[in-house]
This record gives sequence, structure tokens and C-alpha cells, in this order.
Amino acid sequence: MVAPDSARLQRYAGHLARLTAWAALVWLVHAVHQQHLVRRQAVDLAAVPLETIRRHLSEAAAIGGDSTAVAGGRDLLGPTGDRVGTILQTSPAGDVAIGFSGPTDVLVVCDAELVVAGMEILSSGDTRDHVRAVEQDSLFLTSLSGTPLAELAGGGPPKVDAVAGSTLTSMAIIDAVAVRLGGSGSGSRFEHEPGLADLKLLFPAAVSIEPDAGDPSVIRILGPDRLPLGWALRTSPAADRVIGYQGPTDALVGFDSTNRVAGVAVLESFDNEPYVGYVRDDRAFRRLWLGMTIEEITGIDPAATGVEGVSGATMTSQAVAEGIVRAARARRQRRPVLGDGLLPTARGWLAGIEPPQWGALGLIVMGVVTAFTRLRGTWFGRIALPVAVLAYLGFGAGALLSQAQIWGWAKAGVPRGAAVLTVLAAVAAILPATTRRNVYCSHLCAHGAAQQMLVRFTRPKGRMPERLRAWLAVLPWAMLAFAVAIVVVPLPVALVDLEPFDAYLPLVAGIPAVVIFVVGLAASSRYPMAYCRHGCPTGALLDHLRLNRKSSVFGWQDGVLACCLAIAAVAYWWPA
Ligand code: SF4
Repeated sequence: MVAPDSARLQRYAGHLARLTAWAALVWLVHAVHQQHLVRRQAVDLAAVPLETIRRHLSEAAAIGGDSTAVAGGRDLLGPTGDRVGTILQTSPAGDVAIGFSGPTDVLVVCDAELVVAGMEILSSGDTRDHVRAVEQDSLFLTSLSGTPLAELAGGGPPKVDAVAGSTLTSMAIIDAVAVRLGGSGSGSRFEHEPGLADLKLLFPAAVSIEPDAGDPSVIRILGPDRLPLGWALRTSPAADRVIGYQGPTDALVGFDSTNRVAGVAVLESFDNEPYVGYVRDDRAFRRLWLGMTIEEITGIDPAATGVEGVSGATMTSQAVAEGIVRAARARRQRRPVLGDGLLPTARGWLAGIEPPQWGALGLIVMGVVTAFTRLRGTWFGRIALPVAVLAYLGFGAGALLSQAQIWGWAKAGVPRGAAVLTVLAAVAAILPATTRRNVYCSHLCAHGAAQQMLVRFTRPKGRMPERLRAWLAVLPWAMLAFAVAIVVVPLPVALVDLEPFDAYLPLVAGIPAVVIFVVGLAASSRYPMAYCRHGCPTGALLDHLRLNRKSSVFGWQDGVLACCLAIAAVAYWWPA
């Protein structure tokens, strides 16, 4: 084996330092956004303009105090001071539902009977053009009107038609409403809320716990340094109607970070205490569940399969078992295809992929294979693949990486329904960092493919003037730094206006994106790959992740990255 020479070691060290700096920037963007969310939560529903509410409930004359009907909501008062309705907002609980690049806070207006009268978007961290398309769709925001809140509470997202071109955004809005209402009206019969001491029965290393933002039956367990250890599913209130000898029993099922049962703890009970004690102390009963996934639990029929009854407490133990199964099924109903734990389960993630998305994923695999084989020099790699990428990933799926998407995900997390974009982003980031090849730009970007087609068919021969070239060399990096500033300050500029990629979704594209698209392609028909070489901040970012001979050298691009880190750090430690 050849020992690595010092130059190579330096290269790896420099490369690692660069990747670490990018990871730190992503973390800071996320942390700054969390601070921003905390500040935003202070916004009082009382500040919502009355005209906004009256568009849906004309009899509302004033916003009253805290709602007695919906936790966290506010009463709406009529001219005589009587309650004529209720308003609530989906944030922060609903913020777990991320659309294209962020969550949307929705105002839900209800009448006196708690039937939805209408919805309005209060604010959104999602991509502006997608949000605007949803707002302009006359049917979408009224799709839940006439639905009682009780019907939405505790159930999964209702079935409504997504807005064309803004599927992720519109479905996230519906999801946010469902998540926000998931716990209302279904309070537990048990007064004792599980605390750290209860969770330590399942996770002895637990240092703190926190409620899940989207599901009141789920508790997240954190270890030292807030390291996620797993999560627990509380069986109450789902199991409150399961009676043993004379009452229901509350229990916790702990799942480790691989989403398998790590233990079961029996808590408070209305059943006969000696019997509950037998179940609590019965190791065989607890061992029965170990290693199961939530899917496996939902498939159990306690009566048919004869879950082993605890000697002397058969009815109590079978009631606890049935409660666990019911809680798992209720959880599964609330999250039909999404993962349950710290990460989505592979099966749940795969189950959520639609047939057209499989086609796009196949194309991504094809692009990666082409990039690493001789196929790239054949007609397939030069013509068939770019055409397919342009048509299918570009105009078909609108699957292009962009500053809006990258920083939106850094802020709010990766949306669980965006399988194609997630795989595309993973390929785009991992391959240059590990193989020296920027496969996304060379084989998977629809806008790159469009310019490759232009080169092939128009054969541009222009040579850019040196002076202009020098100026344009810094343009992508200046835009990258500007994008980071927009996100962390935050500035009232939409990131989609910096790049041409929204033009691949003509139904939602804004004018700036279309202008950059047209100008960029026009320039590319004169100067080969002009937009890629001189205008694209996303391409500049991906190229910077690439391991190369100069990875050990601190270049001016690293200086820009350092500035971005400084801006984000200032925004984090000295928030405005
Ligand atoms: S440089 Fe930009 S436009 Fe060109 S291929 Fe890369 S991401 Fe796409």
C-alpha cells in the first residue's frame, strides 16, 4: 500500500475543512431560522386584521380572548359580544409540514359550531411563487370549508386536490392544518403527564424530553448534548376506551433510533392496582414487544394471536396490549406513509413514492451511471440523456436544485414527500465531495442540459471580452453570499428571483426567473454554457464541494464562504 504523501494529506485536510465550513453554514442558517420562528410565535392572533376574518365570517365584529373551544385559538365576537366563531393558526405545531422549501402558517376561521369557514395564509417560509399560486387558486383555500374541526382532529390530512405546479406547498398546508388539530378534542383521561423519570424507565441515559411538534402522543428523548436517543409513543388517549377489569391503563412504548421497540413502561391506571403492578413487573410481557416496528405492532390482533396474558392479571395485560396496538394504529393513521422516529423508515419513504417519481429516480440513476462510464461519450450521454433530463426532470417534474431549495431546506428541514429532489440533492452534494465529479451539473441539471443542447445545435463561437469575464467570475459568488444574507438577515427578497429554475414550472414562474432564463439561454447561444460558467450560484456552490488539486489552497471563494459564515454567525449571536 502506498503511503499518502503530504501534499495529498494537505488536500484532504483542506477539503475536509471546506466541507466542515459548509456544514457549519447550513447549521447556522437552520439555527437562525429557529430563532426567527420563536420570535414569530409571539405574534398574537389578535393582530389579524378583522377584514381578513370577515371575508370568511361576515358576522365577526371583534376578536375576543383565548378560545375556550380550541386550545391556542381566539374567540370571534359578534356585534352583541356573543361568540360567533373561533380563529386559530397552524404555526408552530403545523410547522413540521414543509412544502417546497419551508412551512406555511395558516389562519383557520371557524363559525360558532367549529365548522371551518375559510383559511388564509398568514405567512410562509415556502417558495414565494408556489405560495402565490396557492393563494391565487380560488378553490384550494376553500377546500376545507364546511368541514367540522372535530372531523379534522386526530385524523390524517384530508384528501383535497393539490394546486397544479405547487403540489408540495399545497399539500403541506393541508398537512399543517391536520397536524395543528391532531391533538385537540382528544385529551387524555390521565392527569399525570409522562415526565423524564417515566422515560428513564425506557431510556436510562435520557437527559431531557420534548414533545413532538406534530403529534401530541409522541415524546422525543434526548441524551447528553441533546443527542437524540429515540422516541416514545404514549398509548393514552388512543387507548382510553380499552378497559381491563375496571378501567384503562396508560403506557409508553419506547422506540430506538432505528424505530424498533426498545421497551414498554406501564404508567397510571384506572384498573385494579395489584393487577397493574403484576403487568408492570412482568418481564416476559415487556419482552414480547422488543425489536418490533410500529408496522408490525399495527398488524397484531391481540385477541386472535393470544398475546400472552400476565398470570393473575390476564384482562389487564391484554388491555395494555390492545392499547399499544390501538395507539400504534392511531399513530399510523396520523402519519400513513411518513416515518415515525428521528428519520423516516425506509419502507414508509418508499411507499410514498408515486410512479412518475420512480421514472425521475430512474433517470437520476441513469445520469450517475453515464457520468462514471463510457456511456458519457456516446450518443446516449451526449444527446438522449440531456433531452430526457430537460424534458422529464426539467419541464416534467421541475426537479432542479436552486438557492431557494437549498437554503429553504437548511432553514426548515427536508420535506418528506420530495423524494426526487432529496435524491437529487444527495447525489449533487455527495458525489463531488467524494469522487471529484460534479455529476449534477454535468448530467442531471435540466438547465445545464438545455445549454448543452444549445452548444450542440447552435455551435456558439463567441469569446467573452476579458474585462466582462473578470467581472462575471465573481457574479455567482456574489449572488451566493447575497442568498445567504437574504436567508439569515432576513431580507424581503425571494430567492427564486435570483435564478432561472422556476421557469421550468411555467404555471408558477415569476417574471425575474423567466427573464434570467431567457437572457441566460440567449447568452449561452453566443458564449458556450454562459449561464453555467458565469451566472449560476448553485453551480458555484456544488463546484466548491468538489475534491480537487487546489483543495488545500485557501482561495477567494473560501473567503466568500468565510464571509457567509460571519454574516450567519452575527445573525445568530446578535439577532436583530
Ligand atoms: S451551473 Fe447551474 S445551471 Fe449549470 S448545470 Fe450547474 S446548477 Fe445547472
